Amino acid sequence: MPIRVLATEVVSKIAAGEVIERPASVVKELIENSLDAGATQVSVEAQGGGVELIKVSDNGEGIPASELELAFHRYATSKIGSLEDLERISSLGFRGEALPSIAAVAEVEVSSQTSSDSVGSYVCLRKGEVARRESQARSQGTTVTVHRLFRYFPARLKFLKSTSTENSHIAHLVTQYALAFPEVKFNLALDKRSSLSTTGNGELREVVSGVYGPELAQRMLEVEKNEALTKVSGLIGPPSLARSNRNYLSFIVNRRWVHSPLLTRAVEEAYHGLLMDGQHPIAVINVSLPPQELDVNIHPAKAQIRFCHDQTVFSSVQKAVEEALGRTPIATSKPVPFSGSSGQWQRPRMIMDNEPAFAVAQLPALELPVLRVLGQLANTYIIAEGPDGLYLIDQHAAHERILYDRILEQWSQKEVEVQGLLQPMNIEFSPREEEALRASEEFLTQFGFTIEPFGNRSYLIRAIPALVARANIIEIVSALLDSLAVKESPSPWEGRIAESLACHGAIRAGQQLTNEEMRELMKQLEHTKQPRACPHGRPTMIHLSAQQLEKEFGRIT
Ligand code: ADP
Ligand code: MG
Repeated sequence: MPIRVLATEVVSKIAAGEVIERPASVVKELIENSLDAGATQVSVEAQGGGVELIKVSDNGEGIPASELELAFHRYATSKIGSLEDLERISSLGFRGEALPSIAAVAEVEVSSQTSSDSVGSYVCLRKGEVARRESQARSQGTTVTVHRLFRYFPARLKFLKSTSTENSHIAHLVTQYALAFPEVKFNLALDKRSSLSTTGNGELREVVSGVYGPELAQRMLEVEKNEALTKVSGLIGPPSLARSNRNYLSFIVNRRWVHSPLLTRAVEEAYHGLLMDGQHPIAVINVSLPPQELDVNIHPAKAQIRFCHDQTVFSSVQKAVEEALGRTPIATSKPVPFSGSSGQWQRPRMIMDNEPAFAVAQLPALELPVLRVLGQLANTYIIAEGPDGLYLIDQHAAHERILYDRILEQWSQKEVEVQGLLQPMNIEFSPREEEALRASEEFLTQFGFTIEPFGNRSYLIRAIPALVARANIIEIVSALLDSLAVKESPSPWEGRIAESLACHGAIRAGQQLTNEEMRELMKQLEHTKQPRACPHGRPTMIHLSAQQLEKEFGRIT
């Protein structure tokens, strides 16, 4: 084929593909436009995962009737005018690409009213072209309605996940903007159910309460640090509120919600030694700095940014979080023990002190153990002797392996032991967790959970799998929903459920075990299918053979 310039229609679809990856991208662009228009109320509605309908209404300044069609031209924007403006962007949008991109992949209707126009106006676009326009009475503000997203873009449609996954992306996104703009009243309805509403009273803690629940919000610690270049503020969770993934880390830079590996590292660095492997903190971190210190124009969806002085930003955030945690900078290099008398950082014990750490009573009769327990090291490893030398067993990894096998075994035999709770436990879910729950309810039931809605994002846990009944139930359930929310995961859901339950139900490092408990653990481990690795593939034990020992001690050469 000879070289030729692509037709506008093709170009606009290629460009649209970069900006609009999935329904949540549409929601993002529309919310950003509403916020740029100074809205104090933004309401978002989505149906069918956003593919059928997305509607965003605001009470912002509106689009003048004379400019309404222009707004749909590529690179038409009211936010920047010159090259210099690009150096100090203070609005969320500036590329003039969102509306034309959305119109290239969906049917769009817009109605808007400014304070100066006497009557509002309305346009409807099909395949990127204006199909109808008229005057329409309405209050000041703008409503954009997007129908049949990607209908003429089958390649993209094919890659979308289930309705509930797309819903959960939308819920996550609206949540992030609500956290970034506590002074704006947000409403989100997914398939006509109210999923989030904030008051817009300007209090971050109140938004956190609406999103993650009042109990968690109450325990969040205040972050506040002003330095020459940067101002860091926000709320962070104490280490005991840690989660099993990074979905609870929100970064807002100059009021823009961003993904930032740099800021993630800075926060995690501040928690160093306070969290176990695989745990992540909850945090909402606002960073503000002069706009020229920031490049926001490196990503079509503006989700990534670059800092001119990234080391300075990194250390301000790290310090701000350390201070909020009550750590002095020196403490960072000293890992804090999980047990003992170290006061506030001690992890809660998951199991009652005088009860065995795991369900001894359910054990089938076993033969004598092949490994003889000698003792416990650092409350974390079991030292044992076998016919072939010395074994050091990681108590958490070993118990994880045992639980994983037994949970899957019970499930596949349809003989899941259920533990009813005498007192149902109340738990609040974030909109995202709620979507995950809705989508996985059936699986959770199969594994022994009974979770009932209790109004307003509140739920009652009435029963749980008996095998993990002694662990922290709230932690178990939140971690489980987190892991199920990641729909893209290649592993089958039953494996993911078992893995999450095993990980959070297993005894912890740092927990003292009696000899009896250690012997039981060894016996159970011997009966698993893969005693040498935990479900994540990490080793459960280190073996020093008799021969190695002799070699180390120079008895043989
Ligand atoms: P950008 O946000 O990068 O300027 P968009 O394509 O998103 O580009 O929007 C084009 C223009 O339409 C904006 O610059 C703004 O003037 C106007 N606009 C879009 N949405 C709204 C809204 N909700 N309220 C007021 N003006 C809007
Ligand atoms: Mg925009």
